[in-house]
Amino acid sequence: MTAWKNAQQQLFNVADQLGLSGSMKAFLAEPEAVHVFTVPLSMDDGSTQVLTGIRAQHSFARGPAKGGIRFHPGVTIDEVKALSMWMTWKCAVVNIPYGGAKGGLIIDYKALSPHEKERATRAYARRLLPYIGPDFDIPAPDVNTGGREMAWICDEYSHYVGHPEPAVITGKPVEFGGSVGRIDATGRGVALTVQRYYEIRNEPLERKRVVIQGFGNVGQWAARVLSKMGAIIIAISDSKGGVHAEEGLNVEAAIEHKEQTGRVSGFAGSEISNEELLELECDILAPCALDGAIHGKNARKVKASVIAEGANGPTTTEADEILQSRKVTVLPDVLANAGGVTVSYFEWVQNRQRLAWSVHDVHQKLRDVMRASTDDVCRVADDKGVNWRIAAYLLAVERVAAAVRMTRSDI
Ligand code: NAD
Repeated sequence: MTAWKNAQQQLFNVADQLGLSGSMKAFLAEPEAVHVFTVPLSMDDGSTQVLTGIRAQHSFARGPAKGGIRFHPGVTIDEVKALSMWMTWKCAVVNIPYGGAKGGLIIDYKALSPHEKERATRAYARRLLPYIGPDFDIPAPDVNTGGREMAWICDEYSHYVGHPEPAVITGKPVEFGGSVGRIDATGRGVALTVQRYYEIRNEPLERKRVVIQGFGNVGQWAARVLSKMGAIIIAISDSKGGVHAEEGLNVEAAIEHKEQTGRVSGFAGSEISNEELLELECDILAPCALDGAIHGKNARKVKASVIAEGANGPTTTEADEILQSRKVTVLPDVLANAGGVTVSYFEWVQNRQRLAWSVHDVHQKLRDVMRASTDDVCRVADDKGVNWRIAAYLLAVERVAAAVRMTRSDI
């Protein structure tokens, strides 16, 4: 099933449980707007490539649309639509006043020269300008885009409106109106969700054994914060392989090793493949790399009792069913990795107020949001007798539908 069909199916599953009307289902099952535009790019050799740019805005019901921009050769309109719908649900789960959006440029961005990268980003931004704005749609980084791209897009927008407008985009460098605490926000949010889950269960997180797949931004910060909370990180991996040490890995030393060598393999502990890592005996498995990592073929071999989804979509629908039948709790991506968009929201609030919060304030507010959201999802799961993913969707779709009803008596 394609990402888009999958996204629509997930909506239909909970829409029936919520008793949504046919018109509400139809309204939520499509983005409110999808913009597709040509993006001419001048290459260093003097030639011009005409690229395709996309921005899907799934919902404005709860506030301006919010979502990242990815630059990748595999981007499709359907993928961007699916990602925009998932952003709507994610923002609603953590109860921040945004709808969902996503943008894409079909391009092999990594193959471009530094000058071509800047021209590509600015060219995409210029075609995007009429569709975004601090009160309308606020983009952010996604695959292959980061602080530098956000600064270029912000610069284009500021020239377009005639004054600096940092609130048009988030994920900016701190020197350029970004927020402290954004870099670590997603991994920290994963750790806070796990911490709250064990508190609700009246079980200590201390000494719980954690396995982390993917040791990039999200995986490293989840490892760092979970180990500070007293959990033991027994295995980590990246695309080139992993390491395992039953007595626990020194996370700071592992991050230093990864920074120096570009890989986790070679670090203290026994070498392990990514397949073996997912099947290790442990309490918590945090997939923080790719979508589809846990699927129909390996879900039965997962030994963790809790899966914390740092990545987007790391568990397939088939694996979800197997894990549920085996009583494994999945803390779903729309909750567990929502720390990133939450601090993006904080960045936007600071930009609009012309304030800069301290890192202490950002961490405290993120903690409040993640704990309250985890409690909300847990309550729905208990009340309705459903797993945490379905609970998160029930909560999110109901919140969005309730907002739509406030202005649309015809839906
Ligand atoms: P990243 O590029 O910093 O790190 C990704 C890591 O995954 C790298 O260590 C890479 O080597 C590893 N990896 C890639 N293929 C792998 C494989 N086959 N097996 C094991 N490891 C593999 O990316 P990130 O920002 O940490 O994002 C990771 C995931 O989290 C993605 O799914 C992303 O969409 C999701 N996410 C990120 C954020 C954020 O704020 N960065 C927010 C929400 C969701």
